[in-house]
Amino acid sequence: MDKLSQYLLEHIPERNETFQKLEEYARTHRVPIMEPVSMNFLTQLVKMNRPKQILELGTAIGYSALRMLEAYPLATITTIERNEEMFQIATRNIENADKSDRIQMILGDALEIIQQLSNEQRKYDFIFIDAAKAQYQRFFTNVEPLLNDGGIIVCDNVLFKGYVANSSKANSRRMENLATKIRLFNEWLMAQSNYHTSIIPIGDGLSISIKIK
Ligand code: SAM
Repeated sequence: MDKLSQYLLEHIPERNETFQKLEEYARTHRVPIMEPVSMNFLTQLVKMNRPKQILELGTAIGYSALRMLEAYPLATITTIERNEEMFQIATRNIENADKSDRIQMILGDALEIIQQLSNEQRKYDFIFIDAAKAQYQRFFTNVEPLLNDGGIIVCDNVLFKGYVANSSKANSRRMENLATKIRLFNEWLMAQSNYHTSIIPIGDGLSISIKIK
């Protein structure tokens, strides 16, 4: 880890015991949850925007959903996960935290579930995309109709270990291909004139897109 990242990591607030346990679980079971510094920033965005309705693509063990809810306890969160084992673990974690009334979990492929949510005319103020990186552009275009005017879409991993800006760092053809897909997504995203987008180089890279009214 470089000195700047180390410095940022040392200066974010301590997480409570529940979150520390989830972080430990993710570490020991190699579940890719959000990095602490970008998670801290995401909770900041939630605190600033106070979104009533949040949609998350990619629940994993429920860590980021629980952190976003803690940041704004009046929010209602819908979170989608396609991996059944992850879904069961997240369900348990959310029940143990006594947050099942605020966090609705849906098992299934995000693209299919988004279509269902769209048929139900559901709307969201804040959408967090943290699922299969190769599909970000499809996720983004598919969730767009669900976003309220002035709403925000945040994507994680848009700098992908630094490979997006420097593909020679990628240590396999697969990683290089994935970096190319994310690079194309970033270029496409920055060109969307109905959104104001910034890419923030913390954690694995976050994009923040505000829908212009
Ligand atoms: N947001 C979580 C957190 O920080 O606590 C981490 C999510 S993890 C990086 C990505 C998750 O997205 C994985 O559990 C994976 O199974 C799920 N996923 C990937 N593609 C998906 C898809 N098309 N639909 C639903 N879930 C998907």
